[in-house]
Formats: sequence, structure tokens, C-alpha cells
Amino acid sequence: MSNPIGHAVRQALTRRGFIAGSAISLFAPMISSAVAGDGSVDTRIQLAQISGDVSNSRSRLILLGTSGGPTWYPNSDQSGISSVVAVGDAYYIVDCGEGAGKRLQQAISPASSRFMDDRVRALFLTHLHSDHTVDYANLLFIGLFVGLDRRSTPFKVFGPGRRGQMAPVFSLPGTSAPTVPIINPENPTPGIKDMTGYLYQAFATDLNDRMRDNGKPNLEAVVEVHDIDIPAIAGFKSPNETPSPPMEPFKIFEDDRVRVSATLVDHAPVWPAFAYRFDTDDGSIVFSGDTGRCENLIKLAKGADVLVHEVIVTSAIYRAFPTPRSVANEGLVQHLLNAHTQVEEVGAVAEAAGVKKLVLSHIVPGNATREQLLPAGKGFSGELVIGRDLMQIGIGQTAASPQKG
Ligand SMILES: [Zn+2]
Repeated sequence: MSNPIGHAVRQALTRRGFIAGSAISLFAPMISSAVAGDGSVDTRIQLAQISGDVSNSRSRLILLGTSGGPTWYPNSDQSGISSVVAVGDAYYIVDCGEGAGKRLQQAISPASSRFMDDRVRALFLTHLHSDHTVDYANLLFIGLFVGLDRRSTPFKVFGPGRRGQMAPVFSLPGTSAPTVPIINPENPTPGIKDMTGYLYQAFATDLNDRMRDNGKPNLEAVVEVHDIDIPAIAGFKSPNETPSPPMEPFKIFEDDRVRVSATLVDHAPVWPAFAYRFDTDDGSIVFSGDTGRCENLIKLAKGADVLVHEVIVTSAIYRAFPTPRSVANEGLVQHLLNAHTQVEEVGAVAEAAGVKKLVLSHIVPGNATREQLLPAGKGFSGELVIGRDLMQIGIGQTAASPQKG
């Protein structure tokens, strides 16, 4: 009890243990019949066996929030999508959904609120949908009081640049698209640098007060924001025509602990949408971001230790939006089915990439049951982990192990 985070992790793992224990008997018959049906696929599910104190691993994945989509799900206490790659005492955040700042404090600094110091090195946003970014403002403005104000190095932020082209308006085949107003017409598709500047403008009353009355530093000097430059890609025409053309992963960041690579994934019409790979001395962790099945992601994730992948439970979507649907709801359903990866498909993605462990996060709906998520193991021969907030998964050697020769 003296270690609140340890307790939180144990709670999460205990829940996982319960999930794992009760799930095998429920799902095994389905898998068995699938194997018997085609007779050729060695399909099995290994639910992660997380033993010992994973916080003892030098490099680890920490799930801050595991829900996907811009909503507060009923009957769920899980936060919006956000994760951390920890390498020793260096932390790298990936996405910043609802509740991410609080979860970060719970995960890395449960006994103190002053955690946004030099240890939290960078934030990487996969794309600019609000469910991936809405706690960014909290990280900046609360961050100013919990460590950003006494850093010796800038807090680095990486994310999409401007889209540069408006997405088409959804309409049913044979019908004309309705007229839709445009927010901020002088820059209707801002990137992360623009977004950060707009946040500073929107909160200027607060920020000016904090600098004048509380002696806080200028966030513009403390936070270093980068629009990710996408290299020239053969076959790329425009965000609307070729959102994720075949490409090689490209490096976007490197320091003494991690090398971060990115690739474009298929989350049309949102563009750019990135997947990220973190390579450390202990192994590699890949984040799918939001995407339908995408060969670029499979290439990026080749041989990774851990693939953190989004997932959508198709049956829950059909139940939430029964036919006949309005045009608006039809557009939403089409986006959900085409720009995300269905639970029955994700195991094959992980298998094609040859990863050791598949971790489900950005779960839609966020209150999905274990029975709804277990088909994710279909076609995957590695370990399947159903992500929960504050779960930690170590990779490579533990801190107590001898150093590699
Ligand atoms: Zn999205």
C-alpha cells in the first residue's frame, strides 16, 4: 500500500487475470471450430502472462488511457487513448486523449504532482482527432504548474502538419453533398504548430496572468513544437486521393534512449495520420494510431516486440446505429468501418507483422466486453493483451538483470 502505482498496476493486472481466466473457456470453442473449419490454420490465443514486477523492466509500455472515440462511455472508468514508452527514467507520450495528464501522474509520479520535468521528454501525436489530443491543453496549462516551469530542456511535441486540402463532404451515392460551413477559413486544416499557437491565443488571459502574477515562464519558450516533415513519396498525389501510399518508414526523432520512426496509415479522410515505432536497446514498441488495415503499418511493425493496435467491435457499431440510418449516421458508420480495424481483422495484422505481443488499446466502444474483444486473437500466434488503463508491460531485460554483453 505504500506504493500507490504498484497497487494500481496490481489492480489492473488482477482485472486482466480475471479477464484471461474466464475468457479462455468462453472463446476456446470458437477458435477450435475455426481451426476445424479450414483445417489449415494453427490459431491459438495466448493471453499475456504478466508476472513479477513489470516496473522492474528498464523499457516498458505504460497504457494511460485505452478508450477510443470522442465520448464518455457509460459503465466504464477507462480514459481516452494515451500511452507512454518508458526507458529508465525517460518518458515519451504517444497521443493525449481525455484524462491523459492525470493518468500520467498516477503512472509515473503517484506521490508528487511535479512530474512534467525533464524526464518527460516528448509527446508524439498520431493525428489530430480530438480523442487523441483533447488533454494536450491540460498537459500545457496544468503542466506549467507541475514541472514545465522548471525544465532545463524543452518539452518536445511532434505531430501532423497542415493537411492543406479540405476533406470531401460525405454524401450517399447519387445525392449531392450538403453545404457545410467552414471553421477558420483562413487556415481550415491546421497542424500541431498552428494548434499550439491557437491554444496560446485562446488562453492568453490565463498565460499572461501566470507570467505576470505567478512568475511562470513563457510556454512558447518551454515547449518545442514540430510539424512532422513527410518525405517525398512516389505515387503520392494528395491527401484525398492517396492518403497512405506505399512508403518506407522514416525517422522523426532520436536521442540517447529511443529512435522514433513514422509511417502514414489509412485513417481517411483524416490526414496525415501516423503510426510510430520506438526502438530501444531493450526492444521495440509500435503504435498503430487510428487506421484500417494498412500495409505501411505492417512494414513499420515488422518483428516488433509489442504492437499497440486500435480495435473496433463491429457488432457494437451495428447495434448502436441500426438501419435505416440518417445520412449523418451512415457517414459515421462508414468512417468507423473503413478507417479503423475490426476486431476480427487485427490478429491477422499482428501475425503479418510477426510481432510477439498484440496489445489492444483505443478500444471502441470503450466499454466493450472481453467476449467482444477476444476475436482479436484469431489468426495470431503471439500473445494477446486486452489493454486496461495503467497496465504496464516490460520489454527486454529487467533493471535487475545483468547488462547485455
Ligand atoms: Zn481518429
